[in-house]
Amino acid sequence: MRITCPICGERDMREFTYRGAALPTPPLEADVETWVDHVHLRENAAGVLRELWQHTMGCGAWLVVTRNTITHEILDVVLAEEAGIGIPVAEEQP
Ligand SMILES: [Zn+2]
Repeated sequence: MRITCPICGERDMREFTYRGAALPTPPLEADVETWVDHVHLRENAAGVLRELWQHTMGCGAWLVVTRNTITHEILDVVLAEEAGIGIPVAEEQP
Protein backbone atom coordinates (compact mmCIF):
# COMPACT_ATOMS: atom_id res chain seq x y z
CA MET A 1 0.00 0.00 0.00
CA ARG A 2 1.25 3.49 -0.84
CA ILE A 3 0.18 6.71 0.87
CA THR A 4 0.51 10.14 -0.70
CA CYS A 5 1.72 12.55 1.96
CA PRO A 6 0.50 16.07 1.07
CA ILE A 7 4.00 17.37 1.90
CA CYS A 8 6.37 14.62 0.65
CA GLY A 9 4.39 12.92 -2.10
CA GLU A 10 3.71 9.22 -2.62
CA ARG A 11 5.59 6.91 -0.24
CA ASP A 12 5.50 3.27 0.88
CA MET A 13 3.20 2.68 3.85
CA ARG A 14 6.18 1.45 5.91
CA GLU A 15 7.19 5.11 6.28
CA PHE A 16 3.93 5.79 8.14
CA THR A 17 2.57 4.78 11.55
CA TYR A 18 -1.11 4.06 12.10
CA ARG A 19 -2.41 6.11 15.03
CA GLY A 20 -6.05 5.01 15.21
CA ALA A 21 -9.40 6.18 13.96
CA ALA A 22 -9.64 9.85 13.01
CA LEU A 23 -12.27 10.78 15.54
CA PRO A 24 -12.85 14.11 17.24
CA THR A 25 -10.93 14.29 20.50
CA PRO A 26 -13.13 14.54 23.61
CA PRO A 27 -12.94 17.79 25.58
CA LEU A 28 -10.30 17.84 28.32
CA GLU A 29 -13.02 18.00 30.98
CA ALA A 30 -14.66 14.76 29.74
CA ASP A 31 -14.93 11.98 32.31
CA VAL A 32 -12.37 9.16 32.55
CA GLU A 33 -14.69 6.59 30.95
CA THR A 34 -15.07 8.78 27.85
CA TRP A 35 -11.29 9.10 27.54
CA VAL A 36 -10.69 5.38 28.10
CA ASP A 37 -13.21 4.57 25.38
CA HIS A 38 -11.64 7.13 23.03
CA VAL A 39 -8.09 5.86 23.55
CA HIS A 40 -8.62 2.10 23.80
CA LEU A 41 -11.80 1.01 22.04
CA ARG A 42 -11.71 0.31 18.31
CA GLU A 43 -14.73 -0.41 16.13
CA ASN A 44 -12.57 -2.14 13.48
CA ALA A 45 -15.37 -1.82 10.96
CA ALA A 46 -15.05 -3.04 7.39
CA GLY A 47 -15.45 -0.46 4.65
CA VAL A 48 -14.53 3.18 4.19
CA LEU A 49 -12.97 4.67 7.33
CA ARG A 50 -11.09 7.82 8.24
CA GLU A 51 -7.80 6.91 9.91
CA LEU A 52 -5.09 8.92 11.59
CA TRP A 53 -1.59 8.18 10.29
CA GLN A 54 1.72 9.88 10.99
CA HIS A 55 4.56 10.14 8.46
CA THR A 56 7.06 9.01 11.08
CA MET A 57 9.90 8.21 8.66
CA GLY A 58 9.34 11.38 6.66
CA CYS A 59 8.16 14.86 7.53
CA GLY A 60 6.34 13.79 10.73
CA ALA A 61 3.02 15.20 9.56
CA TRP A 62 -0.22 13.82 10.99
CA LEU A 63 -2.62 12.80 8.25
CA VAL A 64 -6.25 11.82 7.95
CA VAL A 65 -6.38 8.97 5.45
CA THR A 66 -9.76 7.92 4.09
CA ARG A 67 -9.32 4.25 3.24
CA ASN A 68 -11.44 1.29 2.28
CA THR A 69 -10.32 -1.37 4.76
CA ILE A 70 -11.61 -4.16 2.51
CA THR A 71 -9.79 -3.20 -0.71
CA HIS A 72 -7.09 -0.97 0.89
CA GLU A 73 -7.92 1.67 -1.70
CA ILE A 74 -7.00 5.13 -0.42
CA LEU A 75 -9.67 7.66 -1.30
CA ASP A 76 -8.24 10.81 0.27
CA VAL A 77 -5.29 12.09 2.31
CA VAL A 78 -5.27 15.46 4.05
CA LEU A 79 -3.26 17.04 6.85
CA ALA A 80 -4.95 16.39 10.21
CA GLU A 81 -4.93 20.08 11.06
CA GLU A 82 -6.86 20.81 7.86
CA ALA A 83 -9.37 18.07 8.73
CA GLY A 84 -10.00 19.58 12.17
CA ILE A 85 -8.67 16.52 13.99
CA GLY A 86 -6.73 17.23 17.15
CA ILE A 87 -3.39 15.47 17.51
CA PRO A 88 -1.57 14.47 20.67
CA VAL A 89 1.00 16.97 21.88
CA ALA A 90 4.21 15.63 23.35
CA GLU A 91 5.11 16.92 26.79
CA GLU A 92 8.09 19.23 26.87
CA GLN A 93 11.26 17.71 28.26
CA PRO A 94 12.82 19.56 31.22
ZN1 LIG B 1 5.48 13.56 4.70
